[in-house]
Amino acid sequence: MHIADILSRDSVTTSFEFFPPKNDAGWDSLFHVIADFERMQPSFVSVTYGAGGNTRTRTHELVVRLKTQTKLDPIPHLTCANHTKEDIENILTQYAQCGVSNILALRGDAPIAGSTASDFPHAADLVKFIRQFNSRGTHSDPRGFGIGVAGFPEGHPDTPNTLVQMDHLRAKVDEGADYICSQLFFDNSAFIDWQERCELAGIRIPVMAGIMPITSIAGLKRMAELAGGTRFPAKLLRAVKRCEQDAAAVERVGIHWATEQCMALLDHGVRGIHLYTLNKSEATQAIFQNLGIQTSSQLRQP
Ligand SMILES: Cc1cc2nc3c(=O)[nH]c(=O)nc-3n(C[C@H](O)[C@H](O)[C@H](O)COP(=O)(O)OP(=O)(O)OC[C@H]3O[C@@H](n4cnc5c(N)ncnc54)[C@H](O)[C@@H]3O)c2cc1C
Repeated sequence: MHIADILSRDSVTTSFEFFPPKNDAGWDSLFHVIADFERMQPSFVSVTYGAGGNTRTRTHELVVRLKTQTKLDPIPHLTCANHTKEDIENILTQYAQCGVSNILALRGDAPIAGSTASDFPHAADLVKFIRQFNSRGTHSDPRGFGIGVAGFPEGHPDTPNTLVQMDHLRAKVDEGADYICSQLFFDNSAFIDWQERCELAGIRIPVMAGIMPITSIAGLKRMAELAGGTRFPAKLLRAVKRCEQDAAAVERVGIHWATEQCMALLDHGVRGIHLYTLNKSEATQAIFQNLGIQTSSQLRQP
């Protein structure tokens, strides 16, 4: 379903993020729990794309399997670094043929010096290209693909100047993005302040909050690496440190923190919550349970 239709149906969206499994065991374990995710009835799910295209086939395969074998509505991520216009055109044509309605348009990691030149220096260039693709009428939906872009409440490491960074976010919106999905964060005040700064910059499209529950100490360290610049509040680190020898307790603390974040964001009128699942259903289910809901639609009741 086109994101504009999802947004007009769901006053608060919920979405879950998956990555394409690397091997048969990974595929089996994801599809073993897929019914858990279906039962929660998210507005949509999204599927990551390996930087530089190293998961190109697997991302496509997972999107097609989710679309044809489940009740979930998948949005593929697409990174443009190290891709030519022809590469992107081919990928978009394939998704259009499969009836995929939306794309999350990203740059991905910056091209490594000396590697294949990219036709797309920044995500805004990809958004523009998708809009041009849409205007050619290749997609069965006359609107073409709905387009999401990434936003960074606590800044993006490549652009320390936050005013300039906001200009770059605005450029993606001006090129035609329909929604923004945020980088994960643990401090709601950072997200809320950034949302206000987006408004001040004239950004009016919906912003979805990226929430990733900590489920292990190793996971916490990996998050700090992947989401460079994300602040881990002392209160959260103290709570994790207290129980670091007890894996189950660490997971409980992480889920509790993520639940509190979701509750406060919902109270604050957040437009959408995007949960990074790492292909496991337990933490997402526990957050729903803590929120007192079984399905996403219950979040939308007054
Ligand atoms: C929700 C979400 C999902 C993600 N999914 C994936 C994924 O599936 N696969 C993956 O590899 N990565 C993924 N990422 C990571 C993302 O690709 C990287 O963080 C990347 O470095 C930034 O991507 P972007 O789309 O925001 O790029 P851009 O918007 O191009 O921004 C990248 C940097 O360039 C700067 N910039 C933008 N325009 C200009 C300009 N005109 N001149 C100078 N500087 C400029 C920006 O300020 C920023 O610092 C995801 C991130 C988020 C938040």
